[in-house]
Amino acid sequence: MPNELDYCEKHECNKELFFKCKWICNTCISESLKNASKQHEEIFLKNLLSRKISNAHIPLDLKNKDLNNFLINDEEDEKIVDLAKRYMEQIVEKKTHLNLMITGPTGVGKSHIAVGILKYCYELKYFRNSVSYSTSFGLANKVIATWSNPDLNEEDVLKEYTEIDLLIIDDLGYGDIGKKAEIINKIIYRRHENQKSTIITSNLKANQVLEYMDSRTCSRFLSHLYSDIQIDTEDFRLKRM
Ligand SMILES: [Zn+2]
Repeated sequence: MPNELDYCEKHECNKELFFKCKWICNTCISESLKNASKQHEEIFLKNLLSRKISNAHIPLDLKNKDLNNFLINDEEDEKIVDLAKRYMEQIVEKKTHLNLMITGPTGVGKSHIAVGILKYCYELKYFRNSVSYSTSFGLANKVIATWSNPDLNEEDVLKEYTEIDLLIIDDLGYGDIGKKAEIINKIIYRRHENQKSTIITSNLKANQVLEYMDSRTCSRFLSHLYSDIQIDTEDFRLKRM
């Protein structure tokens, strides 16, 4: 019977003397090295994630939202989360750009789902790509601010927002009509040209969102629309195109 000091019960093999002071089995060593590198990778990914998230301009009240803490009341809620995940998985797997529209009244969790998707993309190791959040209103204002400030350039702002790989345009149709609508249309259109994915959330009905767009923008947006999620607490409908 081997001495317990020089026999590894776990791997049923003899230990070896390391550095003339410690008896240890080879498999135990490689296991602990593997664990250490896994832990290191997890910490690295966690840090990268928090850096990316803090650069994505997610507002404070949405910062902690993700697809895991979306309140599931029934089967329909489950379907929303599944669809949101599938949307992101399609972008990653097919290496393509896809749009998503999330509509419904205030307070049903549209922005929560959108921000959740943005975070879910990191679970899929979509780290190389840039993601960002903006309200439609805020985005239009950012462009308009360049008109009266000689230090700012409209084209720079447009370029910034048309080159982000995945952009949430939150609350489309709220405080963004007239000139602002023209800007938002321009951004959606150019994002399509650049093959970038856009998530739009809105209190408007799906058909009103499409009416908000000029025909040129609308047809481009629709050509790469993955799905149209309509969230309504009373009357929930889920359509897949
Ligand atoms: Zn061992």
